[in-house]
Amino acid sequence: MTDFSSLGIEPMLLEAIEALGFQTPTEIQKQSIPILLTQEKDMVALAQTGTGKTAAFGIPMLQRIDANSRITQGLVIAPTRELCLQISKELAKYASHKKGLHIVPIYGGASISDQAKSVKKGAQVLVATPGRMQDMMRRKMIDISAIEYCVLDEADEMLNMGFKEDITNILAHTPNDKLTWLFSATMPKEVANIAKDFMHKPVEVTVGTKNAASNNIQHEYYVVAGRERYSALKRLSDTHPDIYSIVFCRTKRDTQRVAEKLIEDGYNAGALHGDLSQNQRDMVMKSFRAKQIKTLVATDVAARGIDVDNITHVIHYQLPDEIETYTHRSGRTGRANSQGTSMIIMTKGEIAKIRKLERIINAKISSASLPDVSDILTKQLQYLAQQIKATDAHPEIETYLPEVNQILADFTKDELVQRLMSVEFTRLHSYYQKKSNAMTPQSTDDSGRPAKAKDTRYTINIGSRDDYDWKSLKAFLNDFLSMNSGDIYHVDVTDNLSYFNTSTDKKEAVLAAFENFAMDGRAINVRVTQKRGQHLDGKQAFGGRSGKGRSKGRDRGDFSRFSKNKKNKKHGRR
Ligand code: ADP
Ligand code: MG
Repeated sequence: MTDFSSLGIEPMLLEAIEALGFQTPTEIQKQSIPILLTQEKDMVALAQTGTGKTAAFGIPMLQRIDANSRITQGLVIAPTRELCLQISKELAKYASHKKGLHIVPIYGGASISDQAKSVKKGAQVLVATPGRMQDMMRRKMIDISAIEYCVLDEADEMLNMGFKEDITNILAHTPNDKLTWLFSATMPKEVANIAKDFMHKPVEVTVGTKNAASNNIQHEYYVVAGRERYSALKRLSDTHPDIYSIVFCRTKRDTQRVAEKLIEDGYNAGALHGDLSQNQRDMVMKSFRAKQIKTLVATDVAARGIDVDNITHVIHYQLPDEIETYTHRSGRTGRANSQGTSMIIMTKGEIAKIRKLERIINAKISSASLPDVSDILTKQLQYLAQQIKATDAHPEIETYLPEVNQILADFTKDELVQRLMSVEFTRLHSYYQKKSNAMTPQSTDDSGRPAKAKDTRYTINIGSRDDYDWKSLKAFLNDFLSMNSGDIYHVDVTDNLSYFNTSTDKKEAVLAAFENFAMDGRAINVRVTQKRGQHLDGKQAFGGRSGKGRSKGRDRGDFSRFSKNKKNKKHGRR
């Protein structure tokens, strides 16, 4: 059996690792730590989520860093604020016995001057998100001209999120002779390209097969009509009364809605997505870790890499577009030798995708049918009975029982059980009785008025994620197109797309004005809306006229950048 000491790790770090309760190194740690400790080589390391990649790069980096020098020597780049915090906390634990070593997280949504102050005090290691990192570089608050180690963590996700340019820009400010270590769960082409472009003959370490999903996970799919997704989700949750799950949705809006509905229906649920303020996201994660929230509804981006143990189920409220995303999602469960289930809610038309997924994750995805009401009731009552069985009588309960016994004196044990169980049974039974006919309403996103014949309706690829609402977008358009205030109307803003109308005689001018137009380096496209009725009703438009659902303090540094990714230009993704 290999232990950590045989990998060449210094006593100071070994002590800390031991204190954390790590007994044997994981496969990726066994393979990468000895190389990273001793060799002057770049590395590409691939291993699925939950396999301990943070320690695999963190331990060697911390050991090699000179804690007596105050120069920034190590830089870890990670895709999200949550990961950035998670990694820096983890590294701080490993380095707890290394006096004078400071690890500073750099991320958007928190005070930049506080972060700059921490850096100024002497930070040998920075753990940064690309957005804030560049802000601070521009403002000369950070100097990475002498770094020796650069880690790209969750590289696949960073590229997925459109951070390629940002990474290129950051790396351009680092010395040529630094070592670059890239860690990733999967190896799509883009990651291979990064390795080719930015690394010198990297050593490749792969644990398991590339892009493989964990085999502690059972995969199931449930075919439902699109409008029944929510009731399917409820049924799946209800048959697992002790569920501790992450529900993945494709858009921030769906995420918010599903969470709100679950809460309304009495579940301990919470939403996690990029439109929430930092504070809100922190609160949600804290409650989820503490299991006060048992169902976390999340976007892929917001939940990426989050390390929470013992998640019993991952539920795909919709299938993701990208196969890799499926692997990331389901990798949130079945971690560290526990078993987990990944459940896909999907429509009939998506069966072909399942077969494709199976080939790529190299695992069977079984067809399963939704539990019926009697399954659910059985499971719920069993659970209640087990909870009663597992409860010790409270020492003071006796004091209060005489009055209770007086009321219940005439019942036999059987009668008591019947009545006790009926309390829960009646609630669920009447819920399902009511729901069996009523279906959840279909999304209203595509409803509304069509453009009138003399009007032309346009789609533009900017939206609330670029901090526009209908007013500011209208102002921008009026200004940009030099039009009068009434010339642009029916402006509706969604997440990453917006819509507006002009009279048809202005069509040429509008389209011409936007030809080859770019903003912040990104192409802004305006096209005539083809689909009938894409004008959203003001009340339902997310971030539209009602102004609801928009938060002010979101992590612009990290979340405004997604739109650079071509894949995300489709309506309402993420
Ligand atoms: P990854 O980056 O591969 O998704 P993490 O680095 O986040 O995985 O590690 C997942 C969890 O496993 C963390 O809670 C970490 O503390 C724990 N862990 C890492 N290495 C070991 C080990 N050798 N033994 C036990 N637990 C470990
Ligand atoms: Mg990780």
